[in-house]
Amino acid sequence: MMAAAVAGQRGVKVVLMDHATKIGEKIRISGGGRCNFTNTALDGGDASPYFVSQNPRFVRSAMSQYTARDFMNLLREHRVRYHEKHKGQLFCDDSAQNIIDVLFAECEKGGVQWRTGCSVTAVHAVNDGSGMRFELETSTAGTWRCAHLIIATGGYSIPAIGASGFGYTLAEQFNHTISPTAPALVPLTFAEWGKQGWTELAGLALPVRIGTAEGKKNMSFDEDVLISHKGLTGPGVLQISSYWQAGAAITLNLQPDVDLECALCQGKVGAKVQLDTALAQLVPNLPKRLLAHLLSKPDFEKIAKHKWADVPDKALKQLAQQVNQWRLMPSGTEGYKKAEVTRGGVAVKELNGGTMESRLHEGLYFVGEVVDVTGWLGGYNFQWAWASGMAAGRSVSD
Ligand SMILES: Cc1cc2nc3c(=O)[nH]c(=O)nc-3n(C[C@H](O)[C@H](O)[C@H](O)COP(=O)(O)OP(=O)(O)OC[C@H]3O[C@@H](n4cnc5c(N)ncnc54)[C@H](O)[C@@H]3O)c2cc1C
Repeated sequence: MMAAAVAGQRGVKVVLMDHATKIGEKIRISGGGRCNFTNTALDGGDASPYFVSQNPRFVRSAMSQYTARDFMNLLREHRVRYHEKHKGQLFCDDSAQNIIDVLFAECEKGGVQWRTGCSVTAVHAVNDGSGMRFELETSTAGTWRCAHLIIATGGYSIPAIGASGFGYTLAEQFNHTISPTAPALVPLTFAEWGKQGWTELAGLALPVRIGTAEGKKNMSFDEDVLISHKGLTGPGVLQISSYWQAGAAITLNLQPDVDLECALCQGKVGAKVQLDTALAQLVPNLPKRLLAHLLSKPDFEKIAKHKWADVPDKALKQLAQQVNQWRLMPSGTEGYKKAEVTRGGVAVKELNGGTMESRLHEGLYFVGEVVDVTGWLGGYNFQWAWASGMAAGRSVSD
């Protein structure tokens, strides 16, 4: 919609085709119905640290041409009220529908024609005498020809509302490489979660430092995690899921502000209390139910009721590690049904970052989630959709 509106307002004749009958469904369901439409961190500085891609620097050009401030200005023009919630995340005061209405109004301004409920089933490159054209076969609107074609079909996430792999298939048809795709911003699952008693703690949320345990560059986030019936979810887990590779471990620091090894080993001298009592005092912010669960594990069960001063440093260090550097091995994710986005996609090295045009096929553009660009949780993905759409919309012609 962003690309269509911008191109239309430049006088280009635009037809927007979508197989969904209701347009902008992901916007409508986003941010708990209030759409986290951008993040103030994307203010024109270097945007690349907030994105996962084979080459995160690819986002710089489009993101500097259209910043969070530009989108905020657009909302102000349309009198949409919004507020900041957490770490620069901007949400509508009223409803995500406001954003859809803005984009729709901008498309109207650009004279965009709509073909909704219309699936693009095939695309061919043809030479009609006046040059190369794309010929589109559609399910309900016959055959169309155009000189410039923008693919904004998103990723695999949430198939129930129209997601399809069409963009990837089309990209491959035009010889593009697809960086491996995987669900991202997604809850992580763990084998034998129930057997280990974690499901009894389902619903428990706590702030942690969650990180990748392996890889060249370790990432970590200070965010909440939530224990669920299948594993872990919540903002911290969604963030780290975008960096997690199957077979790798993650680490959780349940008390980032407390160096528990130091506190336990140094504080025990002359202490008369039991270890479990001392621990509850040293980590008062750790939910009691979680602490009790950790201490019920075979490694700690025996020492929990011992006098703190008598517990050997080796055992205390092990316990501290469980709190400050808990290593967990996810068995998988909850998949595309639950993923907010798809990681991977059309390889960025084959696209022009300033226009989003294919370097392999003139006139073909890829924008938004179908590209190998995945933003952090917090409005980064929508800002990428707006900015990359804007870049393509400014470049296309009839
Ligand atoms: C539950 C949820 C909440 C989210 N919340 C946020 C948030 O708060 N902030 C944020 O920044 N991001 C959020 N995201 C991510 C964000 O929605 C996406 O990154 C963004 O929508 C991508 O935009 P897009 O235009 O590339 O693709 P999409 O929004 O997925 O749009 C693709 C469109 O292409 C159509 N299409 C697909 N195949 C075909 C075909 N063959 N023919 C015709 N049409 C086709 C689809 O029907 C769809 O309308 C959320 C995602 C989900 C699933």
